[in-house]
Amino acid sequence: MKKVTLIPGDGIGPSITDATVKVLDAAGAQISWDTQLAGVAAVRATGDPIPDATLESIKGTGLALKGPLETPVGEGFRSINVALRKTFDLYANVRPAHVILRNGRFDEVDIVLIRENTEGLYIGIEHYIRIGDDHRAAAESTAVVTRFGAERVCRYAFEYARKHGRRKVTLAHKANILKFSQGLFLDVGRAIAQQYPDIEFNERIIDALAMELVLKPEQFDVIVTTNLFGDIISDLISGLVGGLGLAPGANIGQSGAIFEAVHGTAPSLVGKNVANPGALMFAACLLLEHIGDGDRARKLRTAVEETLREGKAVTPDVGGKATTTEFTDEIIRKLRENGRTGERESGRTGEGEA
Ligand code: NAD
Repeated sequence: MKKVTLIPGDGIGPSITDATVKVLDAAGAQISWDTQLAGVAAVRATGDPIPDATLESIKGTGLALKGPLETPVGEGFRSINVALRKTFDLYANVRPAHVILRNGRFDEVDIVLIRENTEGLYIGIEHYIRIGDDHRAAAESTAVVTRFGAERVCRYAFEYARKHGRRKVTLAHKANILKFSQGLFLDVGRAIAQQYPDIEFNERIIDALAMELVLKPEQFDVIVTTNLFGDIISDLISGLVGGLGLAPGANIGQSGAIFEAVHGTAPSLVGKNVANPGALMFAACLLLEHIGDGDRARKLRTAVEETLREGKAVTPDVGGKATTTEFTDEIIRKLRENGRTGERESGRTGEGEA
């Protein structure tokens, strides 16, 4: 049994987390959960958006599956997601997206976005500048790119490409305007690329990349970029492959990893039992792979994808009428059915060999 911290989160978080734990159980995952609070749920219960008990738990397990967390816009506490990534130095945010529901338009999309997760404009160096009576007359936010940070995420992208049999890494930047911060990221990326002659390397200015992703996304394989660009582009890519309800993410560091959906708390869906749990289930597959259980990851992914393709028991965001519960139950049914078929097939093979 592997111990993993479970953070149900805010908004639709508890509902999709519950659904994900159920399908993991049905898949026979060898995981024991340590459930902890974070976000608004934690503020309500303890007054602290990220209680010490939660941090201690993640320190101990080195692994978390996390529902989305609400971050107040413009005021209030800083993003807990950003704080968790910084606290555990989860420097690479890996967001794979491939088409499951073919729509005739983007059928060949299969992209892994790797976003630098600890630096850039999300480093949290911000302040207002007072002019006369106006204490918010101007605002400054500082982007920080370090050679160390750029090197490790670019190297991660190339290593990922090698390990997963991918052929190309595209570095997305804005070095034509932000010559220092983006220029350093680009220079470092070019130098790392030289060490991987087996992987094709190319570079794109971020605005051109946004257009090309919409016009011809099939040309991209692995994309590596800085924090803010990665945040925006990953939502764009999830839109190409069926929406936020299907996009998982993994935050990876040297000594820990947190798995989550790309989407947020979806406030308008709370309490309606219609949120799509697919993204968190795919994140759970990444977790299974990370702990070396590729077999169960494959089984769970297959069951979710089959359910989505059949379309009989899917949630409204992907064109269905089913509830979160019905979608989950169908995946569990598929897992059991596929398990039985698998057993029968392996049994037959055994008999034939004997
Ligand atoms: P959102 O991702 O919550 O919602 C964007 C749109 O996608 C909405 O129309 C929503 O209904 C839909 N959607 C999202 N997830 C869905 C799902 N599983 N099934 C069906 N439809 C889904 O983004 P938002 O509204 O900008 O943000 C809401 C809150 O979530 C904010 O407080 C934000 O800070 C937070 N947030 C958290 C995370 C995270 O924890 N990783 C990520 C993004 C946003």
